[in-house]
Amino acid sequence: MAQQGTLLVTGGAGYIGSHTVARLRAAGEKVVVLDNLVFGHREALPDPEVVFVEGDLADAALVDRLFFEHRPEAVLHFAAYAYVGESVTDPLKYYRNNLAAPLVLLEAMQRHGCRRFIFSSTCATYGDPVRVPMDETHPQAPVNPYGASKWMLERVLADCGRAWDLRSVWLRYFNASGCDPEGRIGEDHDPETHLIPRILMAAKGEIDKVTVFGTDYPTPDGTCIRDYIHVCDLASAHGRALDYLRAGGATTAVNLGTGRGFSVREILQTAEQVTGRSIPVEYGPRRAGDPSELICDPTRAREVLGWEAEYKEPRSHIDSAWRWMTGPRGGRY
Ligand code: UDP
Repeated sequence: MAQQGTLLVTGGAGYIGSHTVARLRAAGEKVVVLDNLVFGHREALPDPEVVFVEGDLADAALVDRLFFEHRPEAVLHFAAYAYVGESVTDPLKYYRNNLAAPLVLLEAMQRHGCRRFIFSSTCATYGDPVRVPMDETHPQAPVNPYGASKWMLERVLADCGRAWDLRSVWLRYFNASGCDPEGRIGEDHDPETHLIPRILMAAKGEIDKVTVFGTDYPTPDGTCIRDYIHVCDLASAHGRALDYLRAGGATTAVNLGTGRGFSVREILQTAEQVTGRSIPVEYGPRRAGDPSELICDPTRAREVLGWEAEYKEPRSHIDSAWRWMTGPRGGRY
């Protein structure tokens, strides 16, 4: 990573944001984090060199001041709400936070001449797969307001690119998982809904059991298949996206996944091996809106960003998450 100006990281105290900040700092980058700490944790930014600003993305005066003071050369935008179910019952919350609030940020970028933007998008912008693995040309037909809010911001970014030379990379994450292998930072969501942490919470006895959502999917073992991408691989992809924009790269969408899918049952078996514990499981009905199979085609990430996942086996994701959950903080900040 060529070292240049300051980077503004919104949502940098969150799960993926904080792992990316650690990576950027290891590469010697100057980082300013803006986070309202609704879901983020101040402790997820232990590096004293990171400038932390507690505040909201939608606070135009604050955002303007940040641009005046720090003159960021690029923005990495992680701040967003990400509970799919909640987005269905409270869509306006999602459109306000994930779509309207970033407009304030983009207006400040336009005013201050900042032209590089890395966006945390999602495979949820594709909706139900019409083919797997999914590449970036897969039709985008999101099936919930969360996916729709991210897809709409991609459209906004494309239009800003045409109007005032904003260049952006839309990183469409598949299933983020795992933690810093050293156990310094990790995943701490409240409520926690994701499969791997739920399984490990059951292994620890923090919850009675984990429920498997559906065993009648058209997959070899009847449970859903997902492409689990390690958070440290996501972090390194952000570094590559930054290099790409600094080198003059044009606006593009890039999928981030391993290209391999694993079923819920496979993840459970691996978690039992990693933890050495038997995990209490209940088999329940399908969760609304879950497609049977989501697998990334990571070809463009390799070709355009020179990036490839290093942690290809879910064992390494589960192992690092277990270390975090059984470490000094016990999985909580
Ligand atoms: N899942 C499950 N039980 C849980 C949480 C998730 O069976 O308690 C399944 C879910 O149906 C999906 C996969 O695990 O097939 C991954 O779900 P997660 O919520 O982690 O991520 P998503 O795919 O929704 O982004």
